[in-house]
Amino acid sequence: MSDKTQNTGTMDTTDHIYFAALLPWQKNLWSQLTKRVLTSQQSLPHALLAAGMQGMGKRAFVWRLVAWLLCRKRDSHPTGACGACESCQWLRSGTHPSLQVLPLISMPISADSADSADNQEKLSNAAKDKKSSKTANNSALKIKVDDIRNLQPFIYQGGQGMRICVLDHAEQMTIAAANALLKTLEEPQAKVHLFLISDTPAQLLPTIKSRVQQLPLQTIQPMIAVDYVTQALGSTVNREAVGTAAIEQLIQLANGAPLAAIAMAQAPWYSKRALWLTTWQALRSGKRSSVAASDYWQNQLSITEFIQLSELMLLDMRRLYLGLNELQKDVNLSAALEKYPPDNNGLALFSNSLQQKKIALQQNVQEKFAYDKLMQELACL
Ligand SMILES: [Zn+2]
Repeated sequence: MSDKTQNTGTMDTTDHIYFAALLPWQKNLWSQLTKRVLTSQQSLPHALLAAGMQGMGKRAFVWRLVAWLLCRKRDSHPTGACGACESCQWLRSGTHPSLQVLPLISMPISADSADSADNQEKLSNAAKDKKSSKTANNSALKIKVDDIRNLQPFIYQGGQGMRICVLDHAEQMTIAAANALLKTLEEPQAKVHLFLISDTPAQLLPTIKSRVQQLPLQTIQPMIAVDYVTQALGSTVNREAVGTAAIEQLIQLANGAPLAAIAMAQAPWYSKRALWLTTWQALRSGKRSSVAASDYWQNQLSITEFIQLSELMLLDMRRLYLGLNELQKDVNLSAALEKYPPDNNGLALFSNSLQQKKIALQQNVQEKFAYDKLMQELACL
């Protein structure tokens, strides 16, 4: 791909997002939409919604499409923005006059909004940063009525070229903001396109949803997902450790979202599932004290990672409790449960406790304290 070679010299975050390779399960949609624009037979809908769970690549698709729509040489570059024209340069510097992004922290100049395959490391780093400033970030995500009002001059200014607004985390709009946006949606302006992105579209107002056209990004053929995840992990993880069964398991655990599956495989906690089971059994049998287990795990994983790990283990414990098969075939959960059968009440209590710890950590509860409590509770599970 010529695009790739052009960009390797200045690889930064925006390159990953605007000029990344197209995800294989998005090829059909890409060619449909771009053909529509290039042939001018049918213009692109005024407002588009990219919705669905994290890890399907919806942000990757939107940013790529935005870059291409704005690209001055798009006619001769149907597969993606050229990366070299004035518009593409503006995108690189994060100062494109024809692009407005809400909330501001979603501007792809920050790694937070990355949902692209190459960006998993940055994503996890961003997640780490978030730990310390989680509360600040949550309020920064809110889209308020003034934010929408401030878009109006941009939307109604008229002019020659295409103008694009991206509303990331669109479900974070306040009611007043959503109502202000409705007016804009009801009065489409020529050459203005709105992109809404949402991980939880169920939280969007129905009146908004009925006025935007949803991009069909959710369907991913299992074979394509397996191939993609295998290739992506091939370079970073020991190849023998990523057999087809292991890949299928990962994708299943990630609810079918390939990028989420890759992130999970690369997360430090994923390789510690057997260790979690050992600790749990040692706690249950009384061979290990909760204090010792807490000290040990504090050196292994952050509390946030340990909670993620525990949630995954709990998911399979509940499945086994209900008489279903476990999703994880590579750790011997069923043998452990036969030895130490948990009761439903204990499972529910531990699950609640994990949720509470997550909230407490946002309010700056000490990690050590949360770890100690969690180990005490794990000993009783
Ligand atoms: Zn360009």
